[in-house]
Amino acid sequence: MAEKRDFYEVLGVSKNATEEEIKKAYRKLAKKYHPDANPDNKKEAEAKFKEVNEAYETLSDKQKRAMYDQFGSAGPGGAGGFGGGNGYYSYSTSGFDGFDIDLDDIVSSIFGGGRSRRTKTAQNGPSKGADLRYDVEISFEESFLGVKKQINISREDTCDVCNGSGAKPGTKPETCPMCGGTGQIRQVQTTLFGQMQTSRTCTTCGGTGKIIKEVCEKCRGKGKVRKQVKLNVSIPAGMDEGQTVVLRNEGAPGNNGGPKGDLYIVVHIKHHPFYIRKDDNVLCDIPVTVTQATLGAELEIPMVDGSKEIFKIPEGTQTGTKFRIKQKGFTSVNRNYKGDFIFTVIVQTPKRLTKEQKELFEKLARTMNEQPPVRRKGIFG
Ligand SMILES: [Zn+2]
Ligand SMILES: [Zn+2]
Repeated sequence: MAEKRDFYEVLGVSKNATEEEIKKAYRKLAKKYHPDANPDNKKEAEAKFKEVNEAYETLSDKQKRAMYDQFGSAGPGGAGGFGGGNGYYSYSTSGFDGFDIDLDDIVSSIFGGGRSRRTKTAQNGPSKGADLRYDVEISFEESFLGVKKQINISREDTCDVCNGSGAKPGTKPETCPMCGGTGQIRQVQTTLFGQMQTSRTCTTCGGTGKIIKEVCEKCRGKGKVRKQVKLNVSIPAGMDEGQTVVLRNEGAPGNNGGPKGDLYIVVHIKHHPFYIRKDDNVLCDIPVTVTQATLGAELEIPMVDGSKEIFKIPEGTQTGTKFRIKQKGFTSVNRNYKGDFIFTVIVQTPKRLTKEQKELFEKLARTMNEQPPVRRKGIFG
């Protein structure tokens, strides 16, 4: 596993970048490295995407960023405030996965383990709402042509009675007197490694910095309510099983005025009785009669979009032979390329013959016996 790069370096911003600069850099990079935008080197893009997300997750969160600044990068002592050499708390240690959990451990070890789950999620600063996922199933033809779908989702939304404040209309949340609205109580602690300034979440307001005396009756002070929402999703032509369409700002509402999360629409494609997709090509079997295969024929091939293509198969076409109609397959998601339509000829042996057909086959058989198939000759001769 490669060593973790410095988070500021990953996002390409300076150590004293503003929240806005960090967000901007993140958006740009997330777009650039989104796996769907890099079909040619998906693996590499995915790794970069992950790295960028991880960096942003830390640097976009005031508290995590402060922790990272203090302990993460090598400070004067080599390993920040912990006096050099130990390295245990260094974020550049390879194999440091599961960031959240480890950060929590560090925090609780600093705060003497007094940190509860509830205070972990309560933060005073604005933070982005959760991303949501919705699975949608479309037909094979819809995935070929692209489709607009209306979806119904149930998600949390800002309460329209209190506009998200959580306070009863006509009243306002008051600034918490314990923390002065910061949501954090700062204190200087003497530790084994010297004096350290630490902060803990204010227990009076739960870290929100505000106290609601009269709660909104609709949302009971949460500022959010669950709503049924109708959304229009445009699924572009060529989407394959498991690919996603992202609707920005359609996720869960943010906290303390933060932006909404995003909604990830995961596309699933129904099985088709005739067609199969392979990469951007469409595959199917086309049955032909013995005479068509023997004498050659003009076939009408049904395309996925409902149109027909005339295709001439040559004399003496064997069963299992594949033919390719160029650029009649799926539109590639990166838009400048179309797959092919590939069909396999399946010669059907007739099962029921009329009297006349039977006589003709018998006549044919007599001429064939004078000229047996090559393979037969190999076995018996
Ligand atoms: Zn409300
Ligand atoms: Zn407080």
